[in-house]
Amino acid sequence: MMKFVVFLDVDGVLNTRTTVKRTPSDYTGIDDARVKILANAIEKCGGGEIILSSDWKNLDKDHDDYKYLVSKLAQCNLKISGHTTDRALERGKGIKEYLELHPEIEEYVILDDYTFEFEHYKKLWERLLLTRGIENVRFASRTPAVEAILFENYIKEF
Ligand SMILES: [Mg+2]
Repeated sequence: MMKFVVFLDVDGVLNTRTTVKRTPSDYTGIDDARVKILANAIEKCGGGEIILSSDWKNLDKDHDDYKYLVSKLAQCNLKISGHTTDRALERGKGIKEYLELHPEIEEYVILDDYTFEFEHYKKLWERLLLTRGIENVRFASRTPAVEAILFENYIKEF
């Protein structure tokens, strides 16, 4: 089976600034309905792995907020399979390096509410879905990749 990966940002994807829920440390929490939309889209794609690109990846795995994120995803049978590594605002570079280390990944999309320097990397740009909350999704590129088009459809039809 082909290997499909979602590079996941959290803030601005699974929540918005108007989200009422809070993390254990009193940061903006995660909306269950948005996790459901994500889970449904991944399922429609025939399954896939979540690789965390969000700054939440920098939390210690024992941190209450990280455990909160894991538990929120687990409610929809989702789990984090890995994370990218990057410096400050070079999130695109972190994803590019992850892909180079994992040539088995055949298809992927990137969910994020910010463009960072993704446009420097054509393949990333064509797979970037910009969100204001996952339900408000649009293509970054005018020529999105097929998997980005499919994933966007699965989000919108839910
Ligand atoms: Mg964000």
